[in-house]
Amino acid sequence: MKYFILIIGAISLFSCKKAQVYHLSSMEDVRVVGSELPDLDPEMRVSCNDWENYVPYPKNAHWFEKETIRVNFHCMYDTIGDKLLPFEEMKPFLYKLLDNADLRLRSNPKMNLPEGNNTPNLEPMLAYRITASPDFDDDDGYFKHVDNELYFYLNKGKDRNNYNRAVIQKYAIDDDSILNVFVMPVHPDSVASKTYKQHNAGVALGTSIKISGFWEEDPKWWNYASMFNHEVAHVFGLAHAWTKTDGCEDTPENPNCFQITGKPPCEGPISNNLMDYNNEQMAITPCQLGRMHRKIHDIRSKQRKLVNERWCEYSPDHPIVIPNNQNWVGNKDLSRDIIVKPGATLSLSCRISFAKGAKIIVEKGGKLVLDNVRLHNDCGDQWGGIILHSHDPSQSIVFKGSNVIENAGTLKT
Ligand SMILES: [Zn+2]
Repeated sequence: MKYFILIIGAISLFSCKKAQVYHLSSMEDVRVVGSELPDLDPEMRVSCNDWENYVPYPKNAHWFEKETIRVNFHCMYDTIGDKLLPFEEMKPFLYKLLDNADLRLRSNPKMNLPEGNNTPNLEPMLAYRITASPDFDDDDGYFKHVDNELYFYLNKGKDRNNYNRAVIQKYAIDDDSILNVFVMPVHPDSVASKTYKQHNAGVALGTSIKISGFWEEDPKWWNYASMFNHEVAHVFGLAHAWTKTDGCEDTPENPNCFQITGKPPCEGPISNNLMDYNNEQMAITPCQLGRMHRKIHDIRSKQRKLVNERWCEYSPDHPIVIPNNQNWVGNKDLSRDIIVKPGATLSLSCRISFAKGAKIIVEKGGKLVLDNVRLHNDCGDQWGGIILHSHDPSQSIVFKGSNVIENAGTLKT
């Protein structure tokens, strides 16, 4: 039989009632052994797009995994070459900048606003990694470019170029799979101007960011790490938080004070949120994290392609064990097996990818509900399908609505 393989399990040796093992690798298989339930009105169904389903709450720690964003750096020089540190010094500087940005992400402090809030400060489950391009032999993820036309960053005046993509179009490397960071000195005319105020600046443009400042003789990497995180968050879809247009209830409207001045409206406390302009820019709320992770698990998004495909590497030694009833909503990318224990019901919705060889194992007495779900492998491989141990498979696997099982390997008989 092409689709449906029935194996008399070894379990029967130890049980007076025969249990059977079924390997299900397509919806045809599921329809043969399972039972169909009435589907909800589509209007009533859960939304796979709801950011709430992508928040790394501790209760989701059994399946939530840290996502690593690939990064490279481009240091821009003019022919004089004196406006950034020498390139060999820029490399450790940027390495430490990225390390500090990573540390700030992990430390995610509590929100200052609103006063008395109970907004959770969660582990963001995000990290960075310097990444060399596979297309360049001697690439280490750091590039030096000398270009008198495009080396500088100017965000004021008629020659402003902060939103100009020319430097990205000319020098970006693999910007469909690596976040390209352009490190650009401030234009010297700006620095020389009497009205120039020293400040760092950055902008996110597609999957690249431009960061500027570096006017000091001895720049400090930690002065640029929060700005870096702010721009990366823009790339991953976050808007500024001080106006009420960011779609997050947990980032309150505020006067966007850079620091406490003692005078209204900045008498304090002031925001410390990453997406406001303030001298801390550290706190990231559950809604903001949910929105970033939603992008990562959206297979149509360009941001997903900037993230290391850890979901393609099978981890057979760390299965996700389901000991109680759980209802999974939201797209997920798993590198591990799922084991549904006796007495537990796991309901799956939205899109879930499995690493090569990873399986859903339903133990005897467990139950799997396919509720408008797409199960697949997103790495060009085959995942292991559903292994069902059951006396009565019509009770152990049920399905409703529109379900798809793709790229699941079949057992040979
Ligand atoms: Zn911004």
